[in-house]
Amino acid sequence: MIAGRTRYRILAFLTDITGIKSSVEIGKPKQPRLNKKMHGRADTSAIDEQWFRDVIGRKIATHPGNRMEYPFAGEPIFDEPLVGFVRGDDPLLAEYKKIIGPFHLTPTEIMAWQAEKNRVAAPRPEEISVVSFIMPITDATKKENARQSDWLSERWAQTRRQGEMFSRSFVREIVADLMARGVLAVSPDTAPFFTKKRYPGAGWASPWSHRHMAYAAGLGTFGAHDFLITEKGAAHRCGSFVVNLRLRPDRQRPDDIHAWCAHYRTGGCLACVSRCPTGAISEQGHDKEKCYNRVIRSIPRCVGEYHIMIYGCGLCSVGVPCESGIPEKVLKKK
Ligand code: SF4
Ligand code: SF4
Repeated sequence: MIAGRTRYRILAFLTDITGIKSSVEIGKPKQPRLNKKMHGRADTSAIDEQWFRDVIGRKIATHPGNRMEYPFAGEPIFDEPLVGFVRGDDPLLAEYKKIIGPFHLTPTEIMAWQAEKNRVAAPRPEEISVVSFIMPITDATKKENARQSDWLSERWAQTRRQGEMFSRSFVREIVADLMARGVLAVSPDTAPFFTKKRYPGAGWASPWSHRHMAYAAGLGTFGAHDFLITEKGAAHRCGSFVVNLRLRPDRQRPDDIHAWCAHYRTGGCLACVSRCPTGAISEQGHDKEKCYNRVIRSIPRCVGEYHIMIYGCGLCSVGVPCESGIPEKVLKKK
């Protein structure tokens, strides 16, 4: 369907089922069942860190879901990923209940839910890992959105819409593969408890933060705009999933959560402040509520001009020193 589209859809707010699903998190797929005959017996020695780097890299390089629609049909949505790992017994994961809010789940809690569903014993924290990945947005999309000063560009809107669905579907494929081999795994995005909503004291949040998992895995640190600045920049989407395997973290996590943001590290940046059309970023940080109100107002633009039912913005993550890498100033200070 994606490759075959040769013109815009009509009445997108009713007919764009993919966009509607991507926007409002409805239509969660059935969770894959665990192959109980293999559970605890399978030889998992080959399912190591490199296995996950290879499989995620292959999905992004070859999966038909990583493709734009008309009028950019065939263009990739994401470039080569970064992949990192967090151990289930990493103390930071429990601390997230204080940092993000008590509603934020630990991998152990998520895995206990999957274990109970499949009627097997819940694994201990040290037997669990989180696989976290960053999918950098392509240069064509970044350049296009960097030219915008008020609303998101068309490629950025498609990235938000198809990219979300692509991420959910390829993670579900990896999870289904592991479950068929007898390895418990969970994609938090597709679990029934995963819904973004307003939490008292925390504002808009979800019970599983991919960005915080990526920070825990050493993949990046937070910028003044609240996006994660990685070695491939802040213009990306990230994802994560939980597996019943002992994987080794292989990246050094900076203690300072803002270590790679020029404003916090060296001073004299805040380029993201002037990129924001609604004043949601300041020296004090990112106002989630203001940002949300702006982002949601982009729906008529996406429906009317791009003929897809989605929202987004991301203007502050492009045309700035941290767009495609760690800012030069920060690298020089390292
Ligand atoms: S634009 Fe500058 S201040 Fe804003 S997040 Fe990026 S590095 Fe930090
Ligand atoms: S995503 Fe858009 S509205 Fe939100 S802070 Fe960035 S530029 Fe502002």
